[in-house]
Amino acid sequence: MDIVAEFGLRPIVNAVGTATRVGGQRMHPEVIAAMADAAGRHFAIDELQEIAGREIAAATGAEAGYVTSGASAGLMLGAAACIAGADPDRIDRLPDTIGMPNEIIVQRGHRNAYDHALRTAGARIVEVGYQGHPGAGRTHAWQIEAAIGPATVAIAHPVQHAPGTVPLPEVAELAHRHGIAVIVDAAAGLPPKANLRRFIAEGADLVAYSGGKAIGGPQASGFLAGRADLIRSAALQHLDMDVDVRTWRYGSLVRDGSLRGVPHHGIGRAAKVGKEGIVGLLAALRRYVARDEEAEIARQVAILEHIAAGIDRAGLPAGASLTLRRPPIDGRVMYPVLHLDLGGSAATERAAALSLALQQGDPPVYTGEGWLDIGVVSFGASTLHEDEADVVVSAVRAALTGARDVAIG
Ligand SMILES: *Cc1c(COP(=O)(O)O)cnc(C)c1O
Repeated sequence: MDIVAEFGLRPIVNAVGTATRVGGQRMHPEVIAAMADAAGRHFAIDELQEIAGREIAAATGAEAGYVTSGASAGLMLGAAACIAGADPDRIDRLPDTIGMPNEIIVQRGHRNAYDHALRTAGARIVEVGYQGHPGAGRTHAWQIEAAIGPATVAIAHPVQHAPGTVPLPEVAELAHRHGIAVIVDAAAGLPPKANLRRFIAEGADLVAYSGGKAIGGPQASGFLAGRADLIRSAALQHLDMDVDVRTWRYGSLVRDGSLRGVPHHGIGRAAKVGKEGIVGLLAALRRYVARDEEAEIARQVAILEHIAAGIDRAGLPAGASLTLRRPPIDGRVMYPVLHLDLGGSAATERAAALSLALQQGDPPVYTGEGWLDIGVVSFGASTLHEDEADVVVSAVRAALTGARDVAIG
């Protein structure tokens, strides 16, 4: 079946990168084949998750692992695990956390919109520190410690550019001294692939990764790596729990008293992963672990150089310039990016107009908008095939020419 014709779809060119709203990463044919194979069979999902967990543990150096439907789902399940542990009553009550410890501390410089995933489990975010670094305040370890109390269950520590925040090893040390966990959001922490092991090595209790971004797994996949007891709690709150204790894979937990009883479907039941997603994530993770990162960066640089040369040949508008930037960029971007600067911060409207014109072109081309406020439209190549470079060049030329008399030129 030709899905484009059958459903009237409009494929886009993704020159942004692995952003979720433009389709994340493309899957390698080997990963697609693994998913197709899994889709045609049946598996016991709890057993499949155990096998996946061992692969994830081996890839990350963690005690245990678990496949989720994304890093956000991983954060929600991680928060749920820290709040409910192995208590079936708490598992049953989430996201209602009235009367139970539910506070997750976060440094002010670490606040981001993904903490909604933690709140989804019923957590209350407790923000500490200042964001004025350098000069007007930062976060100190004592501020984190002062916020820890009987209601604290964890500290959230996203991987992001956050000057003036207390680093993970120090946060982990103080958290463990107080008997609480550290949950790391590493969705933006890959590449480099060395970061698959880094956060566990630095003391994180749970790390949430995205499978649909750098790793190139199914777009709606991800995984948790971390402490075995927390991973078990996450699993209990995620699996289909329509089970009989006499035949349940984990029935011995009830018989030996580790669990007071069989929990009902938990908060994670609304974020299920299918067998295809689990197998696809595993196939992609294996490829990612074996990947030659230098070669991949060189591939992306070559595509971006080709795009830059093509745009340049066509002639740039007055005041515009092109710069190929190499990682790390602004302390946060770990892959090469081409900047088309339309004239600095005086040109933010021109940059937004160009981005919009590209999205409205045929084919639609989506570009990075992370620097629009300084008049820059950016291009990433992690999601581009070599043969799309000329498509991007033509689209930019058309948008610049077409709009010369309107907003952009
Ligand atoms: C993308 C992202 C997420 C969410 O990841 P999904 O796999 O799409 O759920 C969470 N946190 C950060 C920092 C991200 O960039």
